[in-house]
Amino acid sequence: MRIDKLTLDGWRNYRRQTLDFDGSCNVIYGENAQGKTNLLEAVVYLSCGKSPRAHGDRELIGFDRQEASVTAQLLSRERVFTTNIQLFRGRRRKMTVNGVPAKTSAALSDVLHTVFFCPEDLFLIRAGAAERRRFMDLSLCQLRPRYAEALAEYGRLYDHKTRILRDSDEYPQLLDTLPDFNHRLCQVGAVLISYRARYVQALAVHARRAHWECSGEREELALSYQTVKTVEDPLGPAADIAAALAEHQAQHHQAELASRLCLSGPHKDDIAVTVNGLEARHFCSQGQVRTAALSLKLADREIHKNAIGEYPVMLLD
Ligand code: ATP
Ligand code: MG
Repeated sequence: MRIDKLTLDGWRNYRRQTLDFDGSCNVIYGENAQGKTNLLEAVVYLSCGKSPRAHGDRELIGFDRQEASVTAQLLSRERVFTTNIQLFRGRRRKMTVNGVPAKTSAALSDVLHTVFFCPEDLFLIRAGAAERRRFMDLSLCQLRPRYAEALAEYGRLYDHKTRILRDSDEYPQLLDTLPDFNHRLCQVGAVLISYRARYVQALAVHARRAHWECSGEREELALSYQTVKTVEDPLGPAADIAAALAEHQAQHHQAELASRLCLSGPHKDDIAVTVNGLEARHFCSQGQVRTAALSLKLADREIHKNAIGEYPVMLLD
């Protein structure tokens, strides 16, 4: 798949700009702060309705603007598509694919997949688990619409449960609703775990090969999916995973009440990364970290290729 034309209007520092791209490789150069990363960010956003770096859509709208729009003409599955996203201050965004309104970003992912590599990806190896979860989520949301739905529902349930725990001192009756939320969190959590386990399994194979080649066949990169301790087989049936999640929740019930925090569930998942058997986070050199991060991205690209039959748009910042 490829992007032939992109129009940005009110997106970050862009007033109005239309760009035509070459069908193969494009190099975008310019001064610092001219908007190169902002441009790539727009392309990622068009593929999944999420920015890899912004915390909210408001950040994406030009400081002096009330709305922003991004339109792309792209080639996917040998067909031409036009996708558009409009963002508004204080109103829901609107998305269309070939003029047809799209309710969720699944419609965007249906026609465009991207893999984005940027300097901050070094944090993918060095930083805490949240960065690696973000990576998994961004990729899986493009690959599996059902995952995107489950992730959104899990987020809502998690926020709700957190509010219940936080406000339970003042309103103890809130705790009556906790079992329902816990039950649903286990069901939806099991869906997330199933997808993530399969994804990391495939990622590990491709990333190992990429890292081996990039390191002159000297280094062995290994990845393993880390989830809730009671889940013995994350590749097993979802019902078993849900039961294991419920067990873990029960074990942590008192601690959750005492800390008023949601302590149990896949929102703490991680991918353990080792190079030649050593934990990459702590023991890898700068260059090794860079190679490992790039290997994860190249592996992600292969997974997308296998899933959709063509290479996603690769963005290197
Ligand atoms: P570098 O080469 O240094 O990485 P770059 O070309 O990638 O630079 P970007 O990160 O794309 O630069 O653009 C950064 C500029 O965009 C900054 O000057 C920032 O102030 C501006 N910017 C970011 N968000 C907005 C916004 N919502 N409205 C207007 N300008 C914005
Ligand atoms: Mg930049």
